[in-house]
Amino acid sequence: MPFSSTPARLAAGLVWLAACGPARAPTPEPLASTSEVRAIVAALAADSMEGRRTGTPGAARAARYLAERMRSYGLEPGGDSSYFQRVPYEVVQGAEGETLRLPGAGVTDSAGIERITDVNLIGLVRGSDSAMRDEAVVLGAHFDHMGIGKPVGGDSIYNGADDDASGVATVLAAAQALAKAPPRRSVIFLLTSGEEFGVLGTQWYLDRPTFALARTIADLQVEMVGRPDSLAGGSGKLWLTGFKRSTMGPSFATAGLPIVADPRPDFRFFERSDNIVFALRGIPAHTLSSFSLHDDYHQPSDEVDRIDFAHLQQATDLVIRATRLLADGTAPTWRQGGRPSPTAP
Ligand SMILES: [Zn+2]
Repeated sequence: MPFSSTPARLAAGLVWLAACGPARAPTPEPLASTSEVRAIVAALAADSMEGRRTGTPGAARAARYLAERMRSYGLEPGGDSSYFQRVPYEVVQGAEGETLRLPGAGVTDSAGIERITDVNLIGLVRGSDSAMRDEAVVLGAHFDHMGIGKPVGGDSIYNGADDDASGVATVLAAAQALAKAPPRRSVIFLLTSGEEFGVLGTQWYLDRPTFALARTIADLQVEMVGRPDSLAGGSGKLWLTGFKRSTMGPSFATAGLPIVADPRPDFRFFERSDNIVFALRGIPAHTLSSFSLHDDYHQPSDEVDRIDFAHLQQATDLVIRATRLLADGTAPTWRQGGRPSPTAP
């Protein structure tokens, strides 16, 4: 065949046009890595993590593991010490034994109060659109659980595989996927401590946010997605707390995501997870879940072998698609009467 440079130049020109022209081809969605999701849940729920109670060596071990995952995906560190945001806690004796609080909360007499430090983990993917990357979406889950406690059937380690190693796995898998193909707005991946003591890590983040709250357009939390909920439609389906309070839930439904309203509104889950702290600051914030009120909730039997990984994999893909929709699309807004007031949430 005779040599001719023309077709090659033409092809190169077309490639250049395709890469820079306004009509970009849709980015194929990288699905979450199945092995990564499994590995994260298994690692966090292992007995060696000792139930990840905030302030314990087990929680510190979990935090180091999570920071290493964030680093391996190439996330931008968003904490005050790389991926770590240090959170000071005070150990106090409550009516039901030892509990934690943030400094300055409650009692003025601080004599005899033990001070400890735990962390939140924060990683960031910068938005791809120069006009939108100064706005951010927060995707979060809590990595702490209840630690070592009262033995049940000879087991004293409260592993928290569903609560909330499952949610943490979806957030990290989303970070891995979105880092490969960033959406238009920036996304902050926030893994918090202190949730089991009253969403304390998230409260700390909101007072020291990585991204200005005025430019944080939405918060989505993921809590207990390791088993399907028949009331939500079974495997691969999730429900969203406070569905009708903002335009977020309806926008997911319009986009065809299998996300329904919380089927048990009487349990007031909208007010019982990390999203409430964002919502009270005025940011549209909800929690995705498929918690079916199973008997292993807050028991040592919340183990990795009870996770339905086929469901969790579908849930993870759903979390990725929902996050991308928030980061690419119209910012959600509260509907009439949907925004909780600080006095009456
Ligand atoms: Zn939880």
